[in-house]
Amino acid sequence: TFLKNSPHQEEHIFRSRYGNVPVPENTTLPEFVLQNAELYADKVAFVDAKTHKEITYGEVVRNTRRFSMALRSLGLRKGHVVIVVLPNVAEYAIIALGIMSAGGVFSGANPAAHASEIKKQVEAAKAKLIVTNAANHEKVKGLEVPVIVVGEEIIEGSINWNNLLEAADRAGTSLSKEQVHQTDLCALPFSSGTTGISKGVMLTHRNLVANLCSTLFGIKPEMVGKVTVLGLMPFFHIYGITGICCATLRNKGKVVVMGRYELRTFLDALITEEVTFAPIVPPIISDLVKKPVVDEFDLSRLKLQAVMSAAAPLAPELLNAFQTKFPGVLVEEAYGLTEHSCITLTHGDPEKGFGRSKRNSVGFILPNLEVKFIDPETGRSLPKNTPGEICVRSQCVMKGYYNNDEETARTIDKEGWLHTGDIGYIDNDGDIFIVDRIKEIIKYKGFQVAPAELEAILLTHPSIEDAAVFPLPDAEAGEIPAACVVMANGVKESEEDIVNYVASNVAHYKKVRVVNFVETIPKSPSGKIMRRIVKDQMIQKIEAS
Ligand code: AMP
Repeated sequence: TFLKNSPHQEEHIFRSRYGNVPVPENTTLPEFVLQNAELYADKVAFVDAKTHKEITYGEVVRNTRRFSMALRSLGLRKGHVVIVVLPNVAEYAIIALGIMSAGGVFSGANPAAHASEIKKQVEAAKAKLIVTNAANHEKVKGLEVPVIVVGEEIIEGSINWNNLLEAADRAGTSLSKEQVHQTDLCALPFSSGTTGISKGVMLTHRNLVANLCSTLFGIKPEMVGKVTVLGLMPFFHIYGITGICCATLRNKGKVVVMGRYELRTFLDALITEEVTFAPIVPPIISDLVKKPVVDEFDLSRLKLQAVMSAAAPLAPELLNAFQTKFPGVLVEEAYGLTEHSCITLTHGDPEKGFGRSKRNSVGFILPNLEVKFIDPETGRSLPKNTPGEICVRSQCVMKGYYNNDEETARTIDKEGWLHTGDIGYIDNDGDIFIVDRIKEIIKYKGFQVAPAELEAILLTHPSIEDAAVFPLPDAEAGEIPAACVVMANGVKESEEDIVNYVASNVAHYKKVRVVNFVETIPKSPSGKIMRRIVKDQMIQKIEAS
């Protein structure tokens, strides 16, 4: 329940300083993104940074259509969820858009996840199909869901991608296509939101078309067709698939696809593929500033005009160091969250060019959005220059968490405001600054880690009686997962044993990196772990030692 400001008090609601933009109706996300693609069918849309394999706009249109028909022939119907377990590959957008065109719901899974984590996502989403490649096939093998394997390999018991597309060609247009509407679901990314474990975030075609219209409003006509974007941020995350793939396709640009981050290959791709725009995360900015390898490259050959730093806070010292080393490259920050279809606040300024919001701000409010900052205790909206919980209302707000009305009601209030769990303020010029986070998630190098998930794993350890997981600040990763554990009477284990125990059950980025043995875990009267207190106690202990 959120208290409304009393009638004599003003509601402080902020809107974009650039006004609003129209959002087309009656068009699905794939139709919107590929609207004009056939006019420049020979233009390259995706190039693989490693193999240099290229996919043209014509191929994207054709193969999206073929894959969509193939899925229909396998029995996929409107609302059915398809889990995609793939690293960034050149065909990724074709797969996601093909699922959506068929009326299905694309749900990306992190290919670094353990088999047990993928199983949980498949079960939670009630997935009807899985798309993966030979390298990840082992992880999905035992699940009772049909598997499509992308690539040349024929794996027994699974459906080969090429064979499937050829069979769909033979079936031709005899397969009827269900009408897909803008209000239908098209994506189900997973996020832990403000509390608890990962949940499916229901996003509609409307949500994502609206988000693209808001984020692309500042692109000048002369920029259309000229941008080469680095496709390194994971495509299973909503930012990768819409903010990078769909936005670039809509703008007739080219995506340079990178499946894995390694600094040397990254720099090489930036130079050889003449990347002009690179969305990255703060730890990569840190590498560019600090790692000596960077100086082995002839940086004068870079065509890079701007980098976008998103997903986690960018430290002011890091931003300054980057600007000194790369004076010609603008730094745009962006802030967003899965529950808001991705980007929410950014720096691209249509009048002055990129990167012109104040340094260290995360940017301004995108067109069509309403934003307010509330006192988390009273729910009252706050005036300018006063930090409060950021709440957003727009057509980009998710439909809700899949099969979880309770968490949905906790996150989206009755007036349609999405409560982000982040603390920030807006200044007199409309620039927004993030100052804190009150929700539980830990952001390790920009990846979400849910404390509740790691606590549940720690509690399966036979000698652990109680556990609390929380973020510790870290210069390289931004934050690292840390744990306080209460051991059963008399049992002694080393920190390493506990670290290894968790690591053997989760993807590498989720592993607990510091463990502290304690007598009790501070809890509220209702039994909720007081993570802030646990964290502060741990920091004090580290500082004292
Ligand atoms: P996700 O849903 O994985 O995109 O995570 C969203 C969360 O990441 C936000 O609610 C913030 O806590 C954090 N976040 C995203 N962008 C930024 C940013 N530019 N600065 C600080 N935190 C950010």
